[in-house]
Amino acid sequence: MSKGLSGVRADQKFSYRAMERAATYVREQLRFPAHEAIDPLRLFEDLHQISIRQQDGTVIPLRGGVIALEGSEGYTRYDRDRRIIEILASEVTYARLEDAHPRAAYFVAHELGHCVLHTDQLARLAQMPTNQQAAFHRGRTGHKPYEDTEWQANAFASALLMPAAGLVTLEDEGLELSSLFVARRFRVSNEAASYRLDLFQSRRRDLL
Ligand SMILES: [Zn+2]
Repeated sequence: MSKGLSGVRADQKFSYRAMERAATYVREQLRFPAHEAIDPLRLFEDLHQISIRQQDGTVIPLRGGVIALEGSEGYTRYDRDRRIIEILASEVTYARLEDAHPRAAYFVAHELGHCVLHTDQLARLAQMPTNQQAAFHRGRTGHKPYEDTEWQANAFASALLMPAAGLVTLEDEGLELSSLFVARRFRVSNEAASYRLDLFQSRRRDLL
């Protein structure tokens, strides 16, 4: 999980609540209850059930695919010919999805964040030469954390994997939320759980 600024300036700023809502919408479309772990393989296989919209209202179909890829977990791209956005997982990542490995779940959730939050940017990027497209995931320029595409995708992933509403439900059931508990319950890494819990405890009014 990247905590520094590693993306480019996003078209839009999103509040925590807006990202939480976008993640809730995805969970609702795929019928994942807010207080349970996402099945990452089903999330990946059912990406086509999530509709994403460009600013002008155009709906863009979403798909998952597997590619032979070395040294990368995968990436997201807009396919100009087919007019779809694809999350492409490497074979290793796909095998990890089958094992419900936290890292693979985080990969899909993070990339889905790009699809939902950066739809227009992905489409614009597809008009650029390949070497410039790679810069979407690198190349820091002068912008604030919350304006950063990678920061936003990570915040979305965190909200999707560990919804604030789900954490509240568990609290209401009398469960004590520790990072170990959250990591096990939502099948995420300890690092992701502890980061999320810090945010939930310090800014819960901004999330709900
Ligand atoms: Zn990214």
